[in-house]
Amino acid sequence: MKRADRLCGYYDRKRETMGVRARRAYQDRWVRALVAHAWRRAPGVRRRLEAAGLRPAAVRTLADLDRLPVLKKAAIPDLQRADPPFGGFATVSGAELGTVFVSPGPIYEPIARRDWSPWRTETAAYAGGFRPGDVVVNTFLYHLTPAAHLFDRGLALLGCTVVPTGPGNVETQVRTIQDLGATGYVGTPSFLMAILKHAAEKGPGRLPLEVAQVGAEALPPSLRRALEVEHGILTRQGFGTADLGILAYECREADGMHVMEDVVLEICDPETGSPLPSGETGEIVCTVNHRAYPMIRFGTGDLSVVTEASCPCGRTSPRMLGWRGRTDEVTKVRGMFVHPRQTDEVAARFPAVARWQAVVTRKEHEDGLAFHVELVAGTRPEQVVAGMVEAIREVMKLRGEVEVVPPGTIPASAKKIDDRRKWE
Ligand SMILES: [Zn+2]
Repeated sequence: MKRADRLCGYYDRKRETMGVRARRAYQDRWVRALVAHAWRRAPGVRRRLEAAGLRPAAVRTLADLDRLPVLKKAAIPDLQRADPPFGGFATVSGAELGTVFVSPGPIYEPIARRDWSPWRTETAAYAGGFRPGDVVVNTFLYHLTPAAHLFDRGLALLGCTVVPTGPGNVETQVRTIQDLGATGYVGTPSFLMAILKHAAEKGPGRLPLEVAQVGAEALPPSLRRALEVEHGILTRQGFGTADLGILAYECREADGMHVMEDVVLEICDPETGSPLPSGETGEIVCTVNHRAYPMIRFGTGDLSVVTEASCPCGRTSPRMLGWRGRTDEVTKVRGMFVHPRQTDEVAARFPAVARWQAVVTRKEHEDGLAFHVELVAGTRPEQVVAGMVEAIREVMKLRGEVEVVPPGTIPASAKKIDDRRKWE
């Protein structure tokens, strides 16, 4: 298949290209129906609504959702233990229950027998370049957690042939890919690289793979470049959780991940649960149109930022701009969340910075942020300081200072963010 054919089209054009108002009306509709359904069938959801003093009639549109407190992922194991097995969140039982997945916690996730692909992985896989007729090795784990099944079922809907190889055993993977002429790969990007290396070093050399959907770990730009340029494999990623399925996915542009139409993704203050203004980093809080297991305002504990800017691919949904770490690692500076990954992003732009640490202080009731930097020998401070101040503003949306310190000042074991504020 020509690469160009993998870059065009949609799995469901009408759904993926609907206008802002149409999407809003669609989401208002399903949110309203989901809350009413959960109130009737899921006592766990009903308890949450009642505790917030709400009845289903109070949640008519997306704008009403934030009247409901965030349900933290970390609270699920206790809630499920208190009301086994699903914490009162499932709306199906007995013969309606098709599959139960087991995630660390433990957290039990039910899937209804009538729902073949409640996670809508097929939309993501199509946007990532998979097409009917692709033979795909699925190297995600097939037992306990849902990762492999998400793709297995979505790819089947697309018309792909799935080979459930599971993780590990590089030699078998290489042989299978070669013997079956597999054109697609699903799994972690590092394992894909291990398979390609093995094939290159031990034979048979180049593999027939053309397209890959990767996840479960970071995809550094350098690794994506190597997969695409050196190996000719179109490589796209998505974001999801075991509880919620796929939430967002990359299109051909690979510039952020489109949020699924059946997901309402809010970026919220991890402490208060209130939605943050557009462009700020906060916790990903999702409501997913999954009637069998209605997760309403589920706080994932992951951080991201969302843009509403239009995408050249023609899909109209907002895009999640990468994963920015976990909520339990953040520091709040002048009301903005600051994560170690953001400090990494700033420092990475300046090769002349040998060592660095972000220092947060407080003077006269105002937070201060300063990057302490040690420079590579021969660098003049003016080559770095102004640019770095600008990078702090751009990446962290904060005013910050840059202070050049003598070599050896910052210990090798220094924390990326040193919070020196005293709250007394
Ligand atoms: Zn796009």
